[in-house]
Amino acid sequence: MSKVFFRDMEFEVSEGVYQPREDSYLAAEHLWKQEIAGKKVLEVGTGSGFLSVICAKKGKLEEEIAIRDHTEALSVVCEKLVNREHGALSSLSEVDAVGHRVVHGGEKIRDSVFVDEDVKQAIVDCSSLAPLHNPPNLNGIKACEKTFPGVPNVAVFDTAFHQTMPPSSYMYAVPTELYERDGIRKYGFHGTSHKYVSAAAADFLGEPLSELKLITCHLGNGCSVTAVDGGKVIDTSMGLTPLAGLMMGTRCGDIDPGVVLHLVEEGRSADEINNLLNKQSGLLGVAGIGSNDMRDILAARDEGNENARRAVEMYVHRLVLYIGAYNTILEGADAIVFTGGIGENSVPTRRLVLERLRSLGCYIDDQQNESYGEAVTLTTADSLLKAIVIPTNEELMIARETRRIKGDK
Ligand code: AMP
Repeated sequence: MSKVFFRDMEFEVSEGVYQPREDSYLAAEHLWKQEIAGKKVLEVGTGSGFLSVICAKKGKLEEEIAIRDHTEALSVVCEKLVNREHGALSSLSEVDAVGHRVVHGGEKIRDSVFVDEDVKQAIVDCSSLAPLHNPPNLNGIKACEKTFPGVPNVAVFDTAFHQTMPPSSYMYAVPTELYERDGIRKYGFHGTSHKYVSAAAADFLGEPLSELKLITCHLGNGCSVTAVDGGKVIDTSMGLTPLAGLMMGTRCGDIDPGVVLHLVEEGRSADEINNLLNKQSGLLGVAGIGSNDMRDILAARDEGNENARRAVEMYVHRLVLYIGAYNTILEGADAIVFTGGIGENSVPTRRLVLERLRSLGCYIDDQQNESYGEAVTLTTADSLLKAIVIPTNEELMIARETRRIKGDK
C-alpha cells in the first residue's frame, strides 16, 4: 500500500510515499528516509518555480519550471512520482489517501480529520486568523480532489495539538467578549512538529509518553516552545498568530503591545507594522547584518560584531525564560527536546542555553553536544533534567496522522 502526502505551507508543496510500518517512530523515520520520494515545488503562482525530487534509491533531480497554480504544481509532482527513472510509484492508482498540512483550525478542529465540505468551510472561516496560509492550504486540497478523484483527503492542523491547553493558558486578559465574539485567544502553532518530537522523545527515552513531562523547543526560522504533560499540551509560546513568544529569524516574538500602539500613533499603517514585526525583526532586525540565519549571526558575533552578539544573547535569554517558566508549570520537566534547524544543528546555541540551566539540574555533556542532525542526549548521566535532540519530521507526522484517521493498522 502506498500513499501520497501533500504538504502546503508558505507556497511550498512536498510529496512523498510512505510504506506503512511502525515498529517505532524512529524506525518509521528511518524507513521514511530510505524509501521516500520527496518533492518540493516552490513559488507556485509566481510564474517561476523550482522542483526538487529526492529519491533515496535513485538520486536527486532538480528542475526550474514555471507553475501557475496548485493543480499544475500537483500534476508536475504526479508526473515525477510515476516517472520511470525517479518515480517511487508505478501508477497514481496506488495512492489511497492524501494528507494535507493546514495551519489554522481554530477551536472547532481539535484533531486531524477527513476533509468534507464542513472542514473546508472551517478552513475558510479561520482564514482571517491565518491569511497567508489557510487559503493556499485549501487550494492544495482542491487540487488533490481534482487530481485524485475518490481518494480521501485528510487535513492535519498545526493548531490541533495545542487544543488541550486550559483556558488559563490560552485566554488573553482582555474583555471576554473579544474571545466569545472574535475568537481572540492563544492557538499555538508548529503543533505537528511538537507532537512528532514528543512521541519520538518518549520512544528515544524508552518511557511511555503518558508519563513524561517535556519542554519541546522547535527552533527553526520560526521558533516556539511547548510544555507537554503526558502527551497533552498545557502551554505554548505562540499565540493568536505565529508572531508571539520566542525571538525568531525575522519575527519579534513577545513585545509590549504598547509598541504597536506607539507605531500606530506615529502614523504607520497596519501593513507596515505587520511587515516590520514579521519580516524585519528577530535575529535579522537586531543583528542588522542582512541575514536571519543563525550561522551567519554566530559568525558575525565571533568576528566581534556587537549587534550580532546582542542578538544571540537575546535569543538565548528568551528561550531560557520560557524553559524556566514551563519547567515550573510542569512542576519539574523530565526532558527538554531541541528540534528545528537551530535546535538540531546549532552546537553553540544549545551550549549557551544549557549552560544557563544548571540551577535546574541540567548539566551539558560538551562532547555529546558536538553532534548535529541526529537524536542524541546532550546532558550528563547525573542530570536531573535531561536535554535531548530529536530531528523533527512533519511530513512523517502528517503521514502517520493520515494513516491513523484512515484507520490503517
Ligand atoms: P528550519 O526552519 O527548521 O529549516 O530552520 C532554518 C534555520 O535553522 C536557518 O535559518 C538557520 O538559522 C538554522 N540553522 C540550520 N542549520 C544550522 C547550523 N548548522 N547552525 C546554526 N543554525 C542553523
